[in-house]
Amino acid sequence: MDLNNELSDEVDINPILEDEADGAGERNVGENAQARKKKEQQWRKWSEDVIPGMLEPYVALMRETDSLRDLSAARSRKLCSGCEGYSSLEVSCIYFEKIEKLVLCTYKEPALQLLTLGLFPCAPMRPTLAVDLNMLDFVRGLFLNTAPNVTAWAETLEGFLSTHKFKLKTRNTLRKHFGNALQWYTVLEDTKCLRLQEVINRI
Ligand SMILES: [Zn+2]
Repeated sequence: MDLNNELSDEVDINPILEDEADGAGERNVGENAQARKKKEQQWRKWSEDVIPGMLEPYVALMRETDSLRDLSAARSRKLCSGCEGYSSLEVSCIYFEKIEKLVLCTYKEPALQLLTLGLFPCAPMRPTLAVDLNMLDFVRGLFLNTAPNVTAWAETLEGFLSTHKFKLKTRNTLRKHFGNALQWYTVLEDTKCLRLQEVINRI
């Protein structure tokens, strides 16, 4: 299976506000300002829109899957892959042992659709990559106990997946995307715990 095109930066940067700008390479001042602006827009979209919108479906998913213990039903959900008048979106989904490509209809927020499948998007609007919630939960736990190292994790995962014939050509793509997904998944989980605590305190 060859995911070169799907995971190249070229593919990702074009659609609207997606990729996190890494600031690397030679950029002129105007491009840097643009990248910063894009980053701010993404941050706002995540924190004001996507995360608040995910909260309720996330709690429902946790209940349904017994706190992610059994994701089989969620994973086998069939979603619409294309409605007339709406574009479709191809997402590469990263699991411990495989990468699967998925086509989503953009009629509904891609982030929310991915969440119902037990996946978390790497970008707030038109994600090209999504990560299995179990993996994010595992890594979050790991990074609570060791010094967080997204680069080491992403490289290990990339190597592991490539021995299973899932190759990613563009280096650093997984690191960048995975870092985004992990960061915002952590915000979602923390927000959920905070809300729960608020509810308990009121009783
Ligand atoms: Zn549709």
